[in-house]
Amino acid sequence: MTFTLHGVAVSRGIAIGRVHVVERHHLEISEIRLAEDEVAAEVERLEAALALARHHLRQIRDDIPSTTPAEIAAFIDTHLLMLEDAAFSEEPLRLVRELRCNAEWAVKLQRDKLVAAFEEMDDAYLRTRRDDVDNVVERLFRTLLRHKPLRHEMPDQKLKDMIVLARDLAPPDLVLLQHHGVAGFITEHGGPTSHMSILARSMGIPGVVGLHHARRYIEEDETVILDGEDGVVIGGAEAGILAEYRARQAARTRFIAGLQVLREAPAQTLDGVPISLQANVELASDFRSVRDCGASGVGLYRTEFLFLDHADYPDEEEHFATYRQMVAALDGAPLTIRTADLGADKPFGQDDGAFAANPALGLRAVRLCLREPSLFWPQLRAIIRASALGPVRMMIPMLSAVEEVRQVRDIVTTIRKEFTRRGIAFDAAMPIGGMIEVPAAAMCADLFAAELDFLSIGTNDLIQYSVAIDRVNDEVSYLYDPLNPGVLRLIATTLEAGDKAGIPVAMCGEMAGDPRYTRLLIGLGLNEFSVHPSALLEIKHAINGTSAARARETAGQLLGVSDGAQRRELLDALNA
Ligand code: PEP
Ligand code: MG
Repeated sequence: MTFTLHGVAVSRGIAIGRVHVVERHHLEISEIRLAEDEVAAEVERLEAALALARHHLRQIRDDIPSTTPAEIAAFIDTHLLMLEDAAFSEEPLRLVRELRCNAEWAVKLQRDKLVAAFEEMDDAYLRTRRDDVDNVVERLFRTLLRHKPLRHEMPDQKLKDMIVLARDLAPPDLVLLQHHGVAGFITEHGGPTSHMSILARSMGIPGVVGLHHARRYIEEDETVILDGEDGVVIGGAEAGILAEYRARQAARTRFIAGLQVLREAPAQTLDGVPISLQANVELASDFRSVRDCGASGVGLYRTEFLFLDHADYPDEEEHFATYRQMVAALDGAPLTIRTADLGADKPFGQDDGAFAANPALGLRAVRLCLREPSLFWPQLRAIIRASALGPVRMMIPMLSAVEEVRQVRDIVTTIRKEFTRRGIAFDAAMPIGGMIEVPAAAMCADLFAAELDFLSIGTNDLIQYSVAIDRVNDEVSYLYDPLNPGVLRLIATTLEAGDKAGIPVAMCGEMAGDPRYTRLLIGLGLNEFSVHPSALLEIKHAINGTSAARARETAGQLLGVSDGAQRRELLDALNA
């Protein structure tokens, strides 16, 4: 029987394939047989992971504010005790030696054994303590996977061309799934602008998120159609439906292939307004696609992805080596390096934000950087050094007060003075810009424009904060509306402020990469788009078919329409 489930569309494209259900913490765990001479190193790796996991837990326990409820401290103590118990501190090590297997597999075997024991218990309370086992295991897995030897990265052929179904996924999971060659993914939770969803779009992996209870309706190995554009998953499809989707899949492939002719063409509206089209990149490997899609540079390099597979902060040399490689790959095109935007749904380390009730409103991005010099200074030093190698711009995320700009500028000045003294090369004119993604910053964009060399609008956060919805929470994603007049006015105010100050204003949020909004944004006065490479030619196609004059007229009207349906109609008419 055919059934259709509706979720939230993440990335365009259709996937048809068999489903593989994964538990997130089991996602990457497969058995690897070790050679005799590899066992000692693997034991050492597991010992180091155990020590690090214990260290992190102790740190959290020590840092807990005295006002924290006692249950939370007790909860952490329980997990510490478990990690110190032979069940975790000895048994998995024995398994690695005896079975000659990888550390993850040994931990998984031990976890399964403990969970089975808990489940046999009569006491309902004790039975629920299996969650604690899972929590401890998850912590260990995360630590181990950050220190994974390259040989453990072999693609898992089982996942090739499958559609992965999980409760939720994080950015590093997706990188791994791409490595395994999955055709698409479905998650029960998550919003369209979570960083995992952004990554999926830039990787071109079709996905649907927020499909509640999907694991109840979709079975392992079942063939489904996943439509990443409409956000639907169809199971038990008859031959006719399958044929229709296969035809749509082929049509989309042809459309994308047809866009290649635009690669060298300029981006310009029908009435001659030139538009700059740059690329957003997350991973070092994206740099190839920047040149392939014909972007004029990188408008946003999300450097936090450099941190995600690290146990410690990358040092100055590691930052510098990455930036140097990128500047060389871009061959004279500008590179906008955003300073680390860690926190919220891009946590670093084991437990960032774990105890913050609202991590998106907490210590993230520039706030975290200013708080932690050991995170921020090496990155700033590397960016400043990289500026000597080519056109590098530095961009500060999540600004909410002009003082933050001043503090960052002060640090930059201090570093430059030291470099001058020591004869280290840098470009004293490197532009320093900031992201406008907090409503207060958008409203006072003129004040920021007076102290920055360029601005870039981050609509993912600007919408999240102005409409007051968590961007990773699918329950409220229906409110995530770029056409909300409040959002449109904040964008218009920012563009106007940049124009008056005579500094460039780009947009690098997902709204810029969605062709439905291209004409409207041009109408609002945007002439710099930064989008993920996989969307760039489609946006250029939309730009080249836009009348800027007509778009300005509609944009002006849209700022004052309170009715959502009417706004959609106006937009559809503009896009027709
Ligand atoms: C944004 O908020 O729009 C943005 C580009 O930054 P990020 O998505 O990385 O938070
Ligand atoms: Mg942002």
